[in-house]
Amino acid sequence: MDFSENLAAIHRRISTACERARRLPASVILLAVSKSQRPEEVRDMAAAGQVLFGENRVQEARAKIAQCPSRLHWHMIGHLQSNKCRDAVQLFEMIQSVDSLDLASEINRRADLAAKTMPVLLEVNVAGESSKFGYPPDKVLAEIGRINQLPRIEIHGLMTVAPYATDPEKVRPVFRRLRELKLRCEDLLGAPLPHLSMGMSGDFEVAIEEGATLVRIGSALFGPRQRPVGESDGP
Ligand SMILES: *Cc1c(COP(=O)(O)O)cnc(C)c1O
Repeated sequence: MDFSENLAAIHRRISTACERARRLPASVILLAVSKSQRPEEVRDMAAAGQVLFGENRVQEARAKIAQCPSRLHWHMIGHLQSNKCRDAVQLFEMIQSVDSLDLASEINRRADLAAKTMPVLLEVNVAGESSKFGYPPDKVLAEIGRINQLPRIEIHGLMTVAPYATDPEKVRPVFRRLRELKLRCEDLLGAPLPHLSMGMSGDFEVAIEEGATLVRIGSALFGPRQRPVGESDGP
C-alpha cells in the first residue's frame, strides 16, 4: 500500500494548523501510531518517509519491531506494567506513558541495568476519566521532583489522551490545561520541558494550536484499525 498521499495530507494539515498558531511546522513531530498494524504496513509507511512510530503494547511491539527496518524510531504510548519495563527499555527511545513513581523507579532500575538513560513523558489524565490511565494533574506536581531525581530517567514533558469528542473544539480546554501544567512543572524543576504530546486523528489540529510538539496519529494515516478482541484503549 502506498501511504504517500495520507502522509502528505497530514503534513499539510499540520502546516496549516501551525500557520494559524504562528508556529513553525518543524516544531511539531508526527508520530505514526502503528498499534494493530502489521509489519508490512509499517514498512510501507516508512517507505513513504515516516520514521517515528508508536506502539501501546510491549508484546506486540517486540514482535513487530523485529520485522521492521532497523532505522525506525519507536515510542511506547500505552499503559506500561512493571514486568514489561525491561523489554520497554530495550525497544523504545521514549516512554510517553509514565504515570506513577513506582513505574518510573522500575524503568530507572531497568535502564541502569542496561546502562541506558530513558527519556520519558509523564502521562496526565487531565479530564479525570475513570477509563483512562495517567496522573491526576495535582499528583504530577507532587511527584515530578522525585521522578526527576532518578538518575537514569530524563523527563522530556507531558502527554495526554483527550476524551473522545466528535467536535474537537470541545477538548481544547484539555490541551490548554496540559500546556499550563507543563509551565508549572517547569517552574518546579527550574528547567524547560521540551515536549507536549497531545492530539490524535480527530483532534490534532486543535492540539497544535494549543502547543502540541508531538502528535500521535493512527487511523488518519493508516486507515481504520482492525481491533483485536479485548483491546480497550478507547471508544
Ligand atoms: C491509538 C492511540 C492513538 C492514535 O489514535 P487515532 O485516533 O487512531 O489517531 C494516539 N495515542 C494513543 C495513546 C493511542 O492509544
